[in-house]
Amino acid sequence: MYLFKTIKNLQRYLLACKNRNESIGFVPTMGALHEGHISLLAFAQQHCTLTVCSIFVNPTQFNEKEDFDKYPRTTEADIALLEQNGCKVLFLPDVEEIYPHPDNPAPVFDFGYLDKPMEGAHRPGHFNGVAQVVTRLLQIVQPHHLFMGQKDYQQYKIIDKMLQITQSPVVLHMCPTLREPSGLAMSSRNIRLSPKEREQAAHIYRALLLVQQSMEVLPPKQARMAALNYLEQHIQNAQPEYLEIVNAHTLERVQHWKDAAQTVVCTAVRVGNVRLIDNLLLPPQTT
Ligand code: AMP
Repeated sequence: MYLFKTIKNLQRYLLACKNRNESIGFVPTMGALHEGHISLLAFAQQHCTLTVCSIFVNPTQFNEKEDFDKYPRTTEADIALLEQNGCKVLFLPDVEEIYPHPDNPAPVFDFGYLDKPMEGAHRPGHFNGVAQVVTRLLQIVQPHHLFMGQKDYQQYKIIDKMLQITQSPVVLHMCPTLREPSGLAMSSRNIRLSPKEREQAAHIYRALLLVQQSMEVLPPKQARMAALNYLEQHIQNAQPEYLEIVNAHTLERVQHWKDAAQTVVCTAVRVGNVRLIDNLLLPPQTT
């Protein structure tokens, strides 16, 4: 695997690849890699002749400094895991490489309603930071295909919109969420859970499944309440920040299942000190 820390060296290498007509896939990450990340790499490897992974803990998308400081960093293990899984190129820049002029204003996008609810409401500035870093990384790597996880569904919608706004030719792919056998969505933050908290965190997915199971008998509002009650009963000191059933396209709340061709239930829950998010795309309904 080639490891590049500078834009200059990465671009020199990629230019030669593009001249050989390689199709370039890109998997941006913040490291502390797990099987979920590796599944994105595998998707990219199937679609493209060359896949670039990046590891960059982007300071501009953290709205709490403590969250940034505590974000797990496991670079040595990440490099080994990428190598084991046949990754050809890793881009591992430092902050100065990505933001050489930190005082320059970040590009501001109008995402309409997409960045208003859920993560947008609870993490002010988060999506601007995400859009800023993805724009910058795309400018550097100039891939043909971009692979992102459904795990961060709202982020996927934001990047989809950003690509439309900038009329980018990059093709965006959404890859399914990988889960632990317990149902807990794999996340870099899971490392910070105690064994007991990890067990409890599995109830997050069960709450989402409860919504799916109750679709035939309950309207969205009541299905949402049932899931919130489930979380409160099953996770000690559970602090659900939100649990919303929304139109998967617009992210607006739905009153009736039939209001949207596709709905998605999204949640963020604090388990101990760890903030976890998850979501489930729901089957279409006629009522
Ligand atoms: P992160 O390192 O958390 O910024 O995630 C990098 C990419 O991996 C994002 O596109 C995430 O949506 C995706 N990802 C994170 N966790 C999972 C998972 N459990 N399954 C699939 N993709 C994931």
